[in-house]
Amino acid sequence: METKLTFKELGLSEWILNHLKSLGFNKPTPVQRNCITPILSGEGCMGCSKTGTGKTAAFALPILQKLSEDPYGIYCLVLTPTRELAYQISEQFALLGKPINVRTTVVVGGMDSLEQAAELKRKPHIVIATPGRLADHIRNSENGVNFRKIKFLVLDEADRLLDRLDGDFGDDLDVIFNILPKKRQTLLFSATLTDTLKEVQDLNAKKPFVWSEPKTVSTVDELDQRYVLIPEHVKDGYLVFICNSILESSPNHSIMIFTKTCKNCQIIAMLLRSAGFDCTSLHSLMSQRSRLDSLSKFKSSGTRLLIATDVAARGLDIPLVQTVINHNIPGAPKTYIHRVGRTARAGRSGMSISLVTQFDIHRVQAIEEVINTKLKDYEVEENAVLKILTKVNVMRREIEIKLEENDFGERRKLNKRKAIMREGRDPDEEKKQEKRLKFERRKRERKLRMKQGPNKMSST
Ligand code: AMP
Repeated sequence: METKLTFKELGLSEWILNHLKSLGFNKPTPVQRNCITPILSGEGCMGCSKTGTGKTAAFALPILQKLSEDPYGIYCLVLTPTRELAYQISEQFALLGKPINVRTTVVVGGMDSLEQAAELKRKPHIVIATPGRLADHIRNSENGVNFRKIKFLVLDEADRLLDRLDGDFGDDLDVIFNILPKKRQTLLFSATLTDTLKEVQDLNAKKPFVWSEPKTVSTVDELDQRYVLIPEHVKDGYLVFICNSILESSPNHSIMIFTKTCKNCQIIAMLLRSAGFDCTSLHSLMSQRSRLDSLSKFKSSGTRLLIATDVAARGLDIPLVQTVINHNIPGAPKTYIHRVGRTARAGRSGMSISLVTQFDIHRVQAIEEVINTKLKDYEVEENAVLKILTKVNVMRREIEIKLEENDFGERRKLNKRKAIMREGRDPDEEKKQEKRLKFERRKRERKLRMKQGPNKMSST
């Protein structure tokens, strides 16, 4: 039962209450109403709530209050799957903890490692990190990174971090957990948490307080979810046409386009630029500086189009996205949920348009099952698309040739191989292992589909 309705009733201190007032945070959101008090009273906590519902403040506020009572560094470690999320969380901590001059450090890949090591030595109050880079610091530091006295461990987007089949974080997390004190509060937050319950019990010394949003649907009612069923080779033509018609009728709209691979992300960005759109992109083959620049340009409405891989699918708070376009349909329904969660945030309306081919129908069914909603048809004037189709397809081919000439992505593959060998591991063996995991994941997906039964997309 939710009885506590104000920040004051949750037990927050006077300085926080005054600060929240000045920030215009008038009342707590449900995840804050339910999780802040248990965290303040020393419990471990698992909070499951949709993106954009104030999850960060739900853990940051009680941590900052405890920190203000007994300030020392390093007080709290926050782990999160993507670099951009790490920066976003750091910004929230800095904003909410301004009255106590909270010191935060972001430790992520793609940024200067020596600088990060020096910052860690200065013992900031809050360290926000992606597992890979933090584990590197721990492995490479002579005296070890000193997290022995941390009071809080937060796993943000916990399901992604802990999902060993999905993820690449397993080994790095082991290295990190190994140096943390047993006595600490562990807080887990995510939009989709269920699969991780068992792992969490191992992480928490005591049984955690668990709170989950009461609704079973995982996308918001304000989101209008559409699809276009088309053959694979016309996707780009449809994409250009849809972007054009949205921006022509609403020039101030912001659109996020999601695709699966870095290469396709790069191709689509170049394609849309050739077609006359101003756009930015975000994928993991870009330098971290370019990633942050792209994101801030899009956030400040300097450009209306952002093309991204799933590195941008989770948790990013970009308030003004009106449309999300899925250039591919993700295999995991939760990835779809995270992607479309970039729009229709904080009570605003939004639309998602998924480009569906005949090969994706089972994926759409699985998504519809999980979100408990049927995607609706998005009407597109087919003849208008046909007029631009050849031109768009020629543009793609030209861009693909250009990228092949420049060995796009090859350097990273080589560097990854060298790094594995430097650590005395066998890259070929690891590739085999990756393949095995991928195979198991596909098997799981297939099983899920079999359980879900016949085709439910009415228009197919
Ligand atoms: P999050 O779900 O943590 O990404 O938060 C989404 C956005 O909501 C962020 O910009 C927060 O600053 C904002 N926010 C969080 N809690 C509140 C609140 N109680 N009232 C108003 N805005 C909030």
